[in-house]
Order: sequence, then structure tokens, then C-alpha cells
Amino acid sequence: MAYIQFLGAAGTVTGSKHLINTGDPSGKSGFQVLIDCGLFQGPKDWRERNWRDTPVPAKEIDAVILTHAHLDHCGWIPRLVKEGFRGPIYATSPTIDLCGIILPDSGHLQEEDARFYNKIKKSKHDPALPLYTFEEAQSSLQYFKPVRIGETVRLSSDISFRFLPAAHILGSCMAEVSLSINGRAHRMLFTGDIGRVRDQKIAPGKVVHSGPAEGETADLVVMESTYGNRMHPKEDPLPELAALITAAANRGGSVIVPAFAIERTQKFVFILKHLLESAQIPRMPVFCDSPMAIKAVEIFLKHDEEYSDETRSMIRQYGSPLAWPGFIFASTPEESKKINAAMMPSVIISSSGMVTGGRVLHHLAQRLPDPRNLVLFIGFQAPGTRGFAIKSKSDEVKIFGDLVPIRAQVAALEQFSDHADPPELLQWLHTFRNQPAATYLVHGEPEASGQLRDLMKKELGWNVDVAKYLEKVELS
Ligand SMILES: [Zn+2]
Repeated sequence: MAYIQFLGAAGTVTGSKHLINTGDPSGKSGFQVLIDCGLFQGPKDWRERNWRDTPVPAKEIDAVILTHAHLDHCGWIPRLVKEGFRGPIYATSPTIDLCGIILPDSGHLQEEDARFYNKIKKSKHDPALPLYTFEEAQSSLQYFKPVRIGETVRLSSDISFRFLPAAHILGSCMAEVSLSINGRAHRMLFTGDIGRVRDQKIAPGKVVHSGPAEGETADLVVMESTYGNRMHPKEDPLPELAALITAAANRGGSVIVPAFAIERTQKFVFILKHLLESAQIPRMPVFCDSPMAIKAVEIFLKHDEEYSDETRSMIRQYGSPLAWPGFIFASTPEESKKINAAMMPSVIISSSGMVTGGRVLHHLAQRLPDPRNLVLFIGFQAPGTRGFAIKSKSDEVKIFGDLVPIRAQVAALEQFSDHADPPELLQWLHTFRNQPAATYLVHGEPEASGQLRDLMKKELGWNVDVAKYLEKVELS
């Protein structure tokens, strides 16, 4: 019998991996497709699952359909290939370009982690090994196959799929899979991550177009629930943002913004350009200090078909962000060091977004003790990370083994999320042309998925369940 099995992002927000097995009447296993192939991140008992094999051998999986280039959706691909997978990995062209920088970088970090654990000899495994290396990640890129949004791809005689826009990040999409079971067509919608509404005031700075496509139909929906129990603030954050930056500049301080190098950094750069050009903040240099930021901007410029109207008009008016006066993109460690010597005030955008590593550590170690500075968070900070400790107004934080006092102002703006919240999800779900027979919620903490399930049952009258890790759902 045909079935779906949830191999990740069930009971947690990472490790997205959903297996479809088409089965066949002879009892042999059918065509096997993975929707997403993400890395488990965060708590250790989830991360340890990155080391487990898939329930079906990797070499028996026929294809991967990838919704977007975030590591929790694509970061296990090099491991799948290492385990013997040799099929096509279908993704949009921007997703493939972004994976080309994200996956090798992830391999490099895996190698660094293994080296670190071997040095402090704290690993259960002796020697500690990387999940995959930089080279292995590079080599997995050869299996990617570009698919245009809306194009139908036939995988076998009984299964096909097409991508639909998800409006989450550049290249992101939903996967609509059509399966023929005993001659009856069965349409399944895997949402991947879902982007924000079209309202630029409450979801500002969208580089990509907003809002998923309306008027869907599906027999079965597998939907994300990251923000299932949280609401985004509904006020325009730009006046508050301008006031925070201006106040820091007036007291002679700099603004440090920890941000992921891809999408979030580009989004923030466009917002700063808007604030500077409309004279809402004083003129000051903006440094983008992430090794991947330049490559990411180049990928964004290549895929202008995905831009929101605002982004398109800004590029028409001002050209490439890489050439904007006063915006400095650092790629080498030497260029990065120069930023530390730079005059105040300035804005420094640097990764990692949750301050778990990367160049932002140097900037914070130097600037956290000075009360003139502002540390501004524009992304989610997971409990247990340095970013969470700083945001929670701790007195000090450990960086490079030293306790650094936190005297700088710390602020957080929650409006820059790339995930729809419950009212936004309902707004989209209300446009469905039919009521799906079953909906499974994935990609959420248990509390978030549970609350969204209850809300959807109440507001839509749909049959909704929260997916469980390794649960199999029969398709009939
Ligand atoms: Zn995502």
C-alpha cells in the first residue's frame, strides 16, 4: 500500500523529511520519494538522529523533491548521497544556487566541529567524525535538477509533481504531488515553509514576492506550524527601528545586527537603504560582514523574477546593493578585521543569526561592554543559544572563553519573520476550493502544532492531526 512516513520535523521544527512510498500490487516496495531532506538542529537528542540511517536504505530512494534552501530542509542531502542515494534532487533554480553555497559551508562547519571535539576529547565517538565533509557536500550538488514553478514533472507511471510558490525565501515553493492509487488520482500538498501576507506594513522588507498562491485544492495537506501558537506584531516596525538606530548614532554608538547571511541580511540591507534614502536615520556606513553575503546578493540579483515590487523598484532606482555608496561587503578575514577598527557610528550586519558562531562574535566581544552601542535582534533566538542569553538581558555572556559584560542596549524586533502566523495561515487556508480529507501538521514544537490544530478544527472544520515522528499514514 502507498504511504507517507514522517522522518523528521515531526514534534520539532528541524529535520524536515517526508517519505512517500507508492507501493504496488505485487507487494514490492514502490517508487520512493523524499520531500525535503533536512538536518536536525537544536537539542542533542534530535541532533543525534542525523546519525541514524533512513528506514528504507538511501540507495532505494528514487528521488528527492526539495522545497527550499534552509538547512533544516536541505542540510541532510550530502549525508543521503554519502549513504548511497544516486537519484535526482528536484528544486527550483534559485534553491539550487543557494544550496551551492549553503551545503559546502555546512560541510565545512561539520568538519570544524569534529576537529573541535577531537581537540577537547569530549566526543563519545573516537575520533569524532563529520556528518559529511565540504568535499562530500560539493559532490552532492551534481544530483540537483532544476524545475520551474508550475512545471509538471513525471517521476513514474503513477506519480508526478509540480512546484507552487510558497513566498518564504528566494526559490521557496510548495510541492504538489499527484499519485494514482488503484486508478484514482490523489493530490497531496506539502507546504514546506509558508511566507507572510502581502501587507508590507506588517511583513516589511520582503525581498521575494509575498503570500502563497490562493485557491488550492488537495486531498491531503502536510503543513508547517512553526508559528502555530504565536502572533506577529501588527504594527509597522520601521518607525521603531529608525528611532533605535538614530538614538544609538546620536550617542556615538554602533548598531550590531546578528543575522543569517542569506535572505535575512539582504532583507535588512534593503530596509536600511530605504531608511537612509528617506532620511529617517542619519548617514553612516553599513558593513555586511558575512563570508557568504556577497555570493548570496549575487544569487538574488540573478533571480529578479522572484522580487517583490518594492525590491524591484529599489534595484531599478539604486542598482546593485554591492555598489551602493556607504554599503561595504566584507568577504576576507582582513576586510572583516578592518570593520573592528572602523569609526563609530556604523551598522554592522553579521552572522550567525543566533550568535552561535561566525564573525558576529568578534564584533560583539568588542562592542557589548560599551553602553553607547545597540545590539538589535531581527530573528528568532532559540533557547540555549548566546543570542537568547543576550536577548534575555543577561549581565554577561561567554565569548571565546571570556565573560563579556553586556552594557550595550539590547533590542529585538519580531516583525521580520519569514513564516506566516495563525491568522495569516487561516487567511490562505480559507481560499482552498475544497476541504482536504486529512491535514497533518509538521515543523512545529508540540505546543505550537497542537494549538494550530485546534484552531484549524474550530475555524475551518478540517480533519487535522499533528504528525508523529516515524508515523506512517496509509494512502487509499
Ligand atoms: Zn525555511
